[in-house]
Amino acid sequence: MRPFDTFIMVDWSGGNDRGAAPKADAIWAAVLRPRTSVETTYLRNRATAEQFLGDIIEQERAQGHKLLIGFDFPFGYPEGFGAALTGSSDPIEVIDWFARRITDSPKSNNRFDIAGEINSVLGSGKGPFWANALGRDIAGLSRTKAGYVNPFPERRVCEGQAKGSFTCWQLAGVGAVGSQTIMGLPVLARLRAKFGACVWPFERLESDVAMIEVWPSLTVGPAPDGMIKDDWQVAELTRQIAGLAPARLAGMLDIDAPQEGWIFGLGFEQELMSLRPEPVLPPLRNDCFALPQGVHWTPVDEALALLRDRLTPVTAVETVALSQACGRIAAVDVTAPRANPPLPNTAVDGYGFAGGRGEGTHRVPLVQGRAAAGDARADVPAGYAIRVLTGAALPHGVDTVILQEDVLVEDGHIVFRGVLKQGSNTRRAGEDVQAGDVTLRAGRVITPADLALLAATGVAQIAVRRPLRVGVLSTGDELAEAGAPVADGQIYDANRPMLLALLARLNHCAVDLGRAPDDRAGLRAMLDTAAGQVDAIITSGGASAGDEDHVSALLEHAGAMALWRIAMKPGRPLALGLWQGVPVFGLPGNPVAALVCALVFAQPALAQLAGADWTVPQGFDVPAAFKKRKKAGRREYLRARMREGQIEVFASEGSGRISGLTWAEGLVELGEEAQDIRAGDPVRFIPFGSFGL
Ligand code: AMP
Ligand code: MG
Repeated sequence: MRPFDTFIMVDWSGGNDRGAAPKADAIWAAVLRPRTSVETTYLRNRATAEQFLGDIIEQERAQGHKLLIGFDFPFGYPEGFGAALTGSSDPIEVIDWFARRITDSPKSNNRFDIAGEINSVLGSGKGPFWANALGRDIAGLSRTKAGYVNPFPERRVCEGQAKGSFTCWQLAGVGAVGSQTIMGLPVLARLRAKFGACVWPFERLESDVAMIEVWPSLTVGPAPDGMIKDDWQVAELTRQIAGLAPARLAGMLDIDAPQEGWIFGLGFEQELMSLRPEPVLPPLRNDCFALPQGVHWTPVDEALALLRDRLTPVTAVETVALSQACGRIAAVDVTAPRANPPLPNTAVDGYGFAGGRGEGTHRVPLVQGRAAAGDARADVPAGYAIRVLTGAALPHGVDTVILQEDVLVEDGHIVFRGVLKQGSNTRRAGEDVQAGDVTLRAGRVITPADLALLAATGVAQIAVRRPLRVGVLSTGDELAEAGAPVADGQIYDANRPMLLALLARLNHCAVDLGRAPDDRAGLRAMLDTAAGQVDAIITSGGASAGDEDHVSALLEHAGAMALWRIAMKPGRPLALGLWQGVPVFGLPGNPVAALVCALVFAQPALAQLAGADWTVPQGFDVPAAFKKRKKAGRREYLRARMREGQIEVFASEGSGRISGLTWAEGLVELGEEAQDIRAGDPVRFIPFGSFGL
């Protein structure tokens, strides 16, 4: 089955319009599009909700995305009802039956009348439905359960398993789902007809829109203080379901299809809950790029501390197999299900027995056979030894091993000289990692070695952050695409290919946003489009305060921008701002400054937005092979490389010299203080690798 791309979970309601302001017990939908965070929406009535769902289905399908939509009402009734109602055993007939009979508008609907009619025909007016919440009486539908007789089972099989669920017969009262079902089935029928959506578990999930029955309370606990429960639950449930590896989700959906329908996730509650959904992602604060008042030039470290303080992860969580996990960011702490090593074993080839030995010559009889890696643990009687090979679990009765080189074998005995300590040449169970130990912390960028640790401790899949999508935009009327014909005065866009590749190296999802002209309306339109597509935007050029510096001007206009005058060279002001909630890093246009600012500022900031720990690039103090004087005030970064244990710097510091960037293998970082560097003085060299390149 092709995996789902977009997940929507809906908390349904059987009542009338609930007004404009978000409220509890209304319709709430959570939507998770590929590589974004979960977004919840309050929907005041069913017409609004149906429109909302239809729009998303159309948008997502247009992008080739497959959708899974969950609704929290029963898709079917207990055994026998459908056949009695429609004369057919096909549960889809029941859905269509209600679609034909129910009329619905934001202010009123006929659900109680239809229930009364059904009661009159199928249950002599005494059941199966009960509870009329209207002011007027309805023939066949009692207000209370008095005199109630239900010709059908009270519950579906799945409801018997779902503790705390309500029956679909009760139409009113706290928690009743009867009305939700009657008012929900017609919507299923219409989505099915309009979009070819299939209804689980009755139909095969072959369409690119699948609708499943869910019940958030099965796996989602109470909402945090101050949050509406429905809002919280749909978001959490979405994260749980989307967090399943696609094959696992397909497995959970693959059930025998009872006519009554089924609640998704029944029987898998622990697994779903163990996906430990991500914490709610708060939006970035509007003032996250504000600078302290009155400060003119901000030192680099202070600027970095501000970013570190204010930026929070914006990426959702998904579960991937180990083979997909390298370079990804652990979303939660990972604990070891199994110890490493799981059992005590031998670190060498030799002979194992119980206990150490003192001075003198020792002669120990050998048992038949041997213990090799992977063998089941044999029993070795007291006073005997056994041949053991590296990695073999120690047989029962063995806690000490002697190296084969230290032993003579004769007449079925081993002979050796002491002293040998008890436990020699063995590895204790769990001496590396014990079951339950935390092996990786959330925020860790997963390395090949981490995969070894995870695999060894029995972890096969891991919750990771979805990749951060970072858009790259170049600005400037002078720019032309590499390879295109150019007029005098034009230059090729060098920054965009560089920055896109840099982002890909940093394991982000780099999105090419193209080139923007030096024209405010054009740039605004491009930023608007980009804000809907990416989690962060990097621009180059136009970041100063000049006439053609539209990036800074626009961001300033949007009210969420600060021109960071950072006391560093190279690097003119860095423009940082939020465009429709999306952070924008406005880098200088000069390629050298653009790369240095990207490495020094954008790299750690993007890592933190992506959910990784803040990183400090490791540098090394190495003797200089150059001379340089600098004044106090700014921190300087020089293009540099190491040769024969010394640091060379590029001949020119000109910030347009791209050739110097390719010559370099790292940066020399010179502190803010005045310096007079002579050959042989130690300077701080940061290889590009330390920035993650
Ligand atoms: P700006 O910050 O827009 O004033 O640009 C500063 C300098 O960098 C100017 O010489 C620009 O032509 C140059 N520049 C800006 N963007 C790029 C780019 N994408 N590729 C190469 N050079 C650029
Ligand atoms: Mg420009």
